[in-house]
Amino acid sequence: MLLDTDRDPVVVMGGGLAGLYAAWRLTQGGAKVVLFEAQQRLGGRILSEPLPGLTHAAGATCDLGPTWYWPAMQTRLPQLIRQLGLHAFEQPADGAALFEPSLGHRQRMAYSPAMAGSMRLRGGMASLITALASHIDPGRVRLGHRVVGLHRVDGALELDIAAGDGGPGRRLRATAVICTLPPRLLAWRVSFDPPLPDAVIDGWLAVPTWMAAQAKFVAVFERAFWRDAGLSGQAQSRVGPLVEIHDATEPGGQPALFGFVGVPADVRRKAGAQLHQAALAQLQRLFGPDAAAPLCTFYKDWADDPFIATSDDETAPPSHPAYGAHAAMPGCWQRRLWLAGTESACEHGGYLEGALEAAELAVQQLLAQLPTTG
Ligand SMILES: Cc1cc2nc3c(=O)[nH]c(=O)nc-3n(C[C@H](O)[C@H](O)[C@H](O)COP(=O)(O)OP(=O)(O)OC[C@H]3O[C@@H](n4cnc5c(N)ncnc54)[C@H](O)[C@@H]3O)c2cc1C
Repeated sequence: MLLDTDRDPVVVMGGGLAGLYAAWRLTQGGAKVVLFEAQQRLGGRILSEPLPGLTHAAGATCDLGPTWYWPAMQTRLPQLIRQLGLHAFEQPADGAALFEPSLGHRQRMAYSPAMAGSMRLRGGMASLITALASHIDPGRVRLGHRVVGLHRVDGALELDIAAGDGGPGRRLRATAVICTLPPRLLAWRVSFDPPLPDAVIDGWLAVPTWMAAQAKFVAVFERAFWRDAGLSGQAQSRVGPLVEIHDATEPGGQPALFGFVGVPADVRRKAGAQLHQAALAQLQRLFGPDAAAPLCTFYKDWADDPFIATSDDETAPPSHPAYGAHAAMPGCWQRRLWLAGTESACEHGGYLEGALEAAELAVQQLLAQLPTTG
C-alpha cells in the first residue's frame, strides 16, 4: 500500500537531535519533509525523566542520556540553544569531590577542573527536543513508524515502513532520504535494494554507536545532604557499581545524584534488582546514611534499547572513535541518501554537537541539488 502523504517528499529517518534539526532546516529551505521515528517518542539518545517535585519546584528533570554540552569547544549547539530561547546553567561545582580507590576507603579531592564549563539545560536535554519539535508541523512527524527497507527505483527512492502497531507495512516514494540512524543499527535493521557492497556494510558495522554500551542510575532525594558536608556530589570509584557520579540537581529542583554504571552490559542484565541495591549501598558508603532513602530512582540501560544499540554495542570502545569516514554513499545511492546522525560527523562525532554538524552538512548538500533532482 502506498503511504498517504505528499508526493515524493524528502524523508528523514530518525527523530533524535540530528533528525529533528534536519527536518527543521529542510522545512526552512522549502522542502516537503516527512520524518519517520520508530519509537513512540522523539529524542533518541536524549531522554529526560520528570522528577516528582515533592519538596522543591516541580518541572525539573533528570537526564538518562546526554547531560552536558561545552560552549568553549562547540558552536552550533550553543547557538541553537540561544536561538530556541532555552535556559542553560553550569554543572554545580561547589564543594569537594570524592574518590573510592577500594572498598572501605574514601578520599576527599578537589572538584575536577575538567568539568569546568560543562553546561546543562533547565528541563533537561529533552527541552532541546521539545523546542525543536515545536517548529515542525506535527502532521509531518510519524511516530511508531520504522523504516525497514530502502529501494533505489528509477529517479527516486522507495521506503518500506513498518507500523509500530503491527499493521500492514507500507511503501513510500521519496525524492531523497536523510538517515540519522547510527550506522551499525542501519546495517543491522534496514535492507537495501540493490544490495550495498559488503565493504560498505562492514564499514558501518565497525562504527561503534557512541555511549550505546552505557547505563545510567539516578537517585532523587528530599535534601541535597552532600552539600551540607561540603561535597559537590562528584565522585569516582574503582569499586562500583557506579564509576562516575555527579550532582543531577537543577537550580531550584529536587536534589538528585546520577552515576554511570561501570559494569558490563551482560552482567547488568543478570544482576537485575541487585544492581539497584548495590548502587544505593555505594551512595551510602560515599555520601552517608541519608543516601539510603531516595524518594525515587531511575535507571536506563542503553545497551538494551533496540532502537539505539545492537549486540555489537555491549562493549564500549576503549577510547572516543574517529567518526565520519564511513559517511560517503556508494554508487546509485549518492545524491539520494545521506547519513547524518552524530556518528557521521567528522569533527564532533559522537556528541550532540556532532548530530548538528552531520545534519547541517547533509541538509546543505540536499537543498543545493533539490531543484535539479530528477
Ligand atoms: C548515556 C549517554 C550519555 C551521553 N552524554 C552526552 C553528553 O553529555 N554530551 C554529548 O554531547 N553527548 C552525549 N551523548 C551522546 C548524544 O546523546 C548523541 O550524540 C546524540 O543524542 C545523537 O543524536 P542522533 O540524532 O545522531 O542519534 P539518535 O539520538 O540515536 O537518533 C536516532 C533515532 O533513530 C530512531 N530509529 C532507530 N531505528 C529506526 C528505524 N528503523 N526507522 C526510524 N527511526 C529509527 C531512534 O529511535 C532514534 O530516535 C550521550 C549518550 C548517552 C546514551
